[in-house]
Amino acid sequence: MKLYNTMSRRIEDFVPIVPGQVSMYCCGPTVYNYAHIGNLRTYIFEDILKRTLRRAGYSVKHVMNITDVGHLTGDGDDGEDKMEKTARETGKSVWDIAAFYTEAFFNDEKALNIIRPDIVCKATDHIQDMIDLIKRLEDRGHTYTAGGNVYFSIDSIDDYGKLARLNIDELKSGARIEVDSNKKNPKDFVLWFTNSKFAGQAMTWDSPWGRGYPGWHIECSAMSMKYLGEHFDIHCGGIDAIPVHHTNEIAQSEAATGKTWVNYWCHGEFLLMGNAKMSKSSGGFVTLQTLIGKGYNALDYRYFCLTGHYRSQLRFSYDALDAAKSAREGIMERIGQLKKEAAPADQPSSKAEEYMKAFDEAMENDLGAPQALSLLWKMLKDGELSAADKLAAAYHMDEILGLGLKEAVAQKAEAAGTEEEMKLLEERAQAKKAKDFKRADEIRDELKRRGYIVKDTPSGAILERIV
Ligand code: AMP
Ligand code: ZN
Repeated sequence: MKLYNTMSRRIEDFVPIVPGQVSMYCCGPTVYNYAHIGNLRTYIFEDILKRTLRRAGYSVKHVMNITDVGHLTGDGDDGEDKMEKTARETGKSVWDIAAFYTEAFFNDEKALNIIRPDIVCKATDHIQDMIDLIKRLEDRGHTYTAGGNVYFSIDSIDDYGKLARLNIDELKSGARIEVDSNKKNPKDFVLWFTNSKFAGQAMTWDSPWGRGYPGWHIECSAMSMKYLGEHFDIHCGGIDAIPVHHTNEIAQSEAATGKTWVNYWCHGEFLLMGNAKMSKSSGGFVTLQTLIGKGYNALDYRYFCLTGHYRSQLRFSYDALDAAKSAREGIMERIGQLKKEAAPADQPSSKAEEYMKAFDEAMENDLGAPQALSLLWKMLKDGELSAADKLAAAYHMDEILGLGLKEAVAQKAEAAGTEEEMKLLEERAQAKKAKDFKRADEIRDELKRRGYIVKDTPSGAILERIV
């Protein structure tokens, strides 16, 4: 398995810490609103990664957090708590909002065939773990308190910003608008808020530094280490997490343990709306429910995501989604027809095996989903493969693609012919029933002259156009 590692900026051979096992942490949603389809693109990428790791023979332990406290509208500890903002705007409690949008998120994931992470952990259930980690950082001299808040001092470590390759000297000398005058370095970040502008904060907890609530970044360090240990294999997220969120997660995790935290950093590129990143704050906010409301299947969107490589930007448009929809429906139709003809082969032919192997190789080479998808098409169109072979290969591929191919049912009328030709087909069936094989063969030859092959399937004869 080969994977692009944001830390090295290179495609690397994947070598897990424990042979045969993969520990993987993915930053989860902030549950103050519906996920938009850009967020969902990132979760689809992570699901594809997990499925591919499984195909490559690893057992995967996948942990994802739910951010239900501490995520501010601004990345530099500025702005308002996203949860509190929605609570104020809707008149509901933060807890109700978190519960509602968490459920909505998992409904979306289910519709998209995203396999649920093995562990889903809520930030508010892990406040003590965060406090313990902050205490560890305090003991090692990486924190300071100012204005009532506890800050991480980026000058207390040597390699701050290594993931994003930030130039710290430039950052210091550059004129930056500083919003929080408590900070010694503009890039320092809050670990624990007590005294802040959010006086009416609903969610607060006791801590050694006073009653308050955690900063956003500390939750991912505390929960990932709790469930995966202090050194694990893969950490994922969208690329927007690189310069601040993941940078700060690394700083505090490695400062606390004194060692490397994560071996592979994998980031999904943005979904664009027009020329801009789709975001909750911009006007082009589209949810999965919006698409379903317009008559799309959630898996049309999954298919659309598979048409782009996860490290490339993908531009959303309804035209592109229409193309994905008709492509996916075309595959489902073919699979549905194949299912009428045969059951998947227990022992596929060597040609079918070759397709499966090529598919796995494409996926195991830094998730080459677009190539893998074109192999699925090529295989389905290959006249040398039997229906049983095609089904076996398609199901094998779908364990990674997750397009629900096993559920496919042919929708279109079985025969491709005109009414007259359908009548001939029916007459042939009657002739066969009456054991008039001469007449049955005559009709078959007549249909052949008209450009059709008669195929006998378990559910009756069908016509296929000769191409
Ligand atoms: P949030 O709920 O805002 O914390 O975001 C959840 C995930 O979606 C994070 O991993 C983000 O990096 C990712 N994300 C946000 N916007 C986009 C986008 N336009 N395209 C792809 N991923 C995104
Ligand atoms: Zn995170």
